[in-house]
Amino acid sequence: MGGIFPFFKKKTETPAGAPATPGEPQQGLEKDGPEKAKSHPDPVKRVYPNLPTVKGAGVQRGSLFFTCPGCGELNRLSADVIHPVLGVRVVCSSCGTLVHISGFDPFSMRASEIVINSGVPVRLIEFDDWYNHHPVTESLRQRHWQESHIEYGLWVYCIRCHHEFSAAVLMNIPPVWDPRLMQRSGMDKTQIRELAAIKSGRCPACGNGIVMVIITDIPDRVRHMIEDQEYSWSSED
Ligand SMILES: [Zn+2]
Ligand SMILES: [Zn+2]
Repeated sequence: MGGIFPFFKKKTETPAGAPATPGEPQQGLEKDGPEKAKSHPDPVKRVYPNLPTVKGAGVQRGSLFFTCPGCGELNRLSADVIHPVLGVRVVCSSCGTLVHISGFDPFSMRASEIVINSGVPVRLIEFDDWYNHHPVTESLRQRHWQESHIEYGLWVYCIRCHHEFSAAVLMNIPPVWDPRLMQRSGMDKTQIRELAAIKSGRCPACGNGIVMVIITDIPDRVRHMIEDQEYSWSSED
């Protein structure tokens, strides 16, 4: 157990074999697949692993204790850094995996309701396919909530330099790429550059091809906040 590192503070060492470790894309992605493969009979459809998830955390004297879904180690952080609606993204102090801790309001919630989702490495060039076939995306699409992923539940970072990608851009990668068309559609230069890099499967900041993605469903109370625009959805960093 140790303190918590903000995600943008780079780790100096990472244990070998730990899942979802920056720089070490998971091997054997279909390892957890057989159960899911049965529920997706379409042979063309790719099977992606479920994200490691832990339900429930402990809160004691202003500290939150949670088990890292990636390595099982206990982490501790100050409970007041957790936004009551947005939650918080932090890095496991033990294995370096990026995790999202769901929002927690100590006045209306039990700590057992907290959900901790782990990031998984995905090849940027395959992101579109990965995202669009992910069970979370399919579930949101059925409820017509997918657009809200722009605001909550989809966080993507370069695994090497920690550049944060825009969820809005990633969700709307056009099948045909024409910079002039993008310019006319009102995108600014930065967005166009980012899109061009993404289309070539490279991080716009460092050229690396692997991203770490956290994808989660949108809880009802978060959805209500988005609909009522009760919250200003600026980054909590
Ligand atoms: Zn860990
Ligand atoms: Zn990068």
